[in-house]
Amino acid sequence: MKAEELYTKDNKPTGIYFCSGCRKIYSIKGLAENCCLCRQCNNQIIDPQYDFQSVCSNCRSVNSERNKKDKLRNAERVTKPTTDFIYSEDFSRNEGYMTVDELEEEAAQDDVELPCYVYDCDSQNWGGIDIGDCLENEFQDWFEDAQDHITDYDGLYAFITEWNKKQTVTQYMVNYNRIYVIDEDRFNQLISEEQVVSHE
Ligand SMILES: [Zn+2]
Ligand SMILES: [Zn+2]
Repeated sequence: MKAEELYTKDNKPTGIYFCSGCRKIYSIKGLAENCCLCRQCNNQIIDPQYDFQSVCSNCRSVNSERNKKDKLRNAERVTKPTTDFIYSEDFSRNEGYMTVDELEEEAAQDDVELPCYVYDCDSQNWGGIDIGDCLENEFQDWFEDAQDHITDYDGLYAFITEWNKKQTVTQYMVNYNRIYVIDEDRFNQLISEEQVVSHE
């Protein structure tokens, strides 16, 4: 950005400069000149919140694209999904969690190509009710250690333990470190493409 020097009322130079972009003041001319420049591409940034760590929006999107590709390149690849569910950020059905069959259905319905990769998921089974947490919750407004005075704790414990064994609630969570590649050629092309920095 252009560095402008400040002058006193009687036209004496002060040796103090300001950036004509954001009007921040500097005692060194070079700093004022480099103000409001992207530290990555040197493009001008017009942003009153500018600081020397700032990167322009174009570089930010290039960086995030590059980080994503790096992560994809380094991700572990599974030959088939680990669980019944996969995750794809390209589809909104069930917030992106689907079986592969459902993914194919969605793509056909929207008349779009299948994504070349999807993320693999981890599954977690619900362990059932935690008796300790339950009792603590029940007695939180009671006198201290009130839960120690309940009758037949062993009966409760035995019942809940058996009951917990019947539970089958499972949830699936995306694991961004594991991917299932659907179309090898398109995937390889995707991770090899380098986005070109454009300056408008
Ligand atoms: Zn500036
Ligand atoms: Zn930039």
